[in-house]
Amino acid sequence: MKLTAKQRVEQIVEHGLCTGCGLCQAAAGAHLIQVKKGSSGYLVPIVSDAIDHATADLVDRVCPGVHPVGLPDNLIATDTKLDNVWGPWQRMVHTWAGDDHQRHVGATAGVLTALACYLLTTKQVDFILHAKAHATEPSFGEMHISTTTEQVLQGSGSRYGPTAPLIAIDKVLDRNQKFAFIGKPCDLAGLRNYAQEDKRVNDLVRFWLTPVCGGYMPPDSIKAFYRRMGVEPDQVTDLRYRGHGCPGPTRITTAAKVVDAHYLDFWGEDESMWDMPFRCKVCPDGIGEASDIAVADTWILGSPKREDTDTDLGTNAAIARTTAGAQLLAEAAAAGALVFDRDITPDHMSTYQPHQLTKKYAAWPRYQGLQDAGRLTPQTERLRIKQLAAEMPDAVNAQQRQGTLDRVKAGKTDQPTPTE
Ligand SMILES: Cc1cc2nc3c(=O)[nH]c(=O)nc-3n(C[C@H](O)[C@H](O)[C@H](O)COP(=O)(O)OP(=O)(O)OC[C@H]3O[C@@H](n4cnc5c(N)ncnc54)[C@H](O)[C@@H]3O)c2cc1C
Repeated sequence: MKLTAKQRVEQIVEHGLCTGCGLCQAAAGAHLIQVKKGSSGYLVPIVSDAIDHATADLVDRVCPGVHPVGLPDNLIATDTKLDNVWGPWQRMVHTWAGDDHQRHVGATAGVLTALACYLLTTKQVDFILHAKAHATEPSFGEMHISTTTEQVLQGSGSRYGPTAPLIAIDKVLDRNQKFAFIGKPCDLAGLRNYAQEDKRVNDLVRFWLTPVCGGYMPPDSIKAFYRRMGVEPDQVTDLRYRGHGCPGPTRITTAAKVVDAHYLDFWGEDESMWDMPFRCKVCPDGIGEASDIAVADTWILGSPKREDTDTDLGTNAAIARTTAGAQLLAEAAAAGALVFDRDITPDHMSTYQPHQLTKKYAAWPRYQGLQDAGRLTPQTERLRIKQLAAEMPDAVNAQQRQGTLDRVKAGKTDQPTPTE
């Protein structure tokens, strides 16, 4: 049966591939698509009957849910190294914000905050497009434009709930000013796709920065977390996931009380307990391949230890992928905005992020499982997932493929048709 244009966009959500970035609203126009909190609790596109197939084609091209991409070839310099898992890189360092306050309030060690502040104070950009806590949905993030260092600090910390930083990228570009974008790896992939449609992107986006991302938390799981902590979800007025230490307390605020939980109370004691949307489970790029600089945690095996929480000042791992990224890191360190501890390698990254390895190796057979099930399948570019799968034993790939097919058949990857 031939799908209508509306059904084609909705299918991205129904098949569990929407990342909620908001780009489809900006690309199609708010008269055709509005990205809002849907009945599922996620940010989803609410699609008008008036949408046509040309616009659905456009959504298909730019959507990072179905079209995840790596670094454009023209940004890969001749001296760039390529690691099959960790992608193109020029330099990897252990680093933290030179300013103690930025280091303290940042999610890990404030490196993204410090870079954003450095770019503004040195006038290399006019503003930063990133995210901050949502004004009315405490667990969500929302797009945030910072023209001052004070505003940058309002956005410090990771937002582990639905966040749509690209929802108004058309209007952001209308400002006709140069800026840096900080978003999740999938947000950057969306913006790289959009650069093919709107030539202003490559003129105006001067720096592409990203946190390495293992996935965000589904809204229902966040509600379950509130309840475990003795708080009713509708009482919550503010949620700070992390920051103010590394990782710092997960702080739930209501009119009556403040409840501090540990990062491990939120995410679980180890990787096997992490709960995330289906799209994040099959993500081919949690490591920010489309960025100039990707910034990560440095906990061995990916999780902090409860006993270190009060004493750890935080250390980021930063991966400069492009010449612009390597220059920015070096300049920021020379100016004291960052402190470099030491250079590191892809092997260190693999020790800190074993979950990123697992996902990168599993993405291709998982996509084969989606195809077997007749599902929409992300079409990746420049992410090497087929080559990575070829390094794995056939039995492992077969297990991943079958596992995905089984999940689809069991309805575990389905999302409802988006409605408000
Ligand atoms: C959903 C999610 C999952 C993550 N998973 C991992 C992981 O698996 N491994 C790992 O090493 N690190 C992960 N991180 C990154 C880690 O939490 C830190 O963000 C990273 O180490 C950078 O630390 P920082 O101190 O430099 O950040 P900060 O200085 O606090 O700066 C963070 C910047 O990111 C922006 N930002 C935060 N959340 C969002 C969002 N949802 N959408 C768009 N922009 C946002 C903020 O506006 C801010 O500018 C994740 C982050 C997120 C948001």
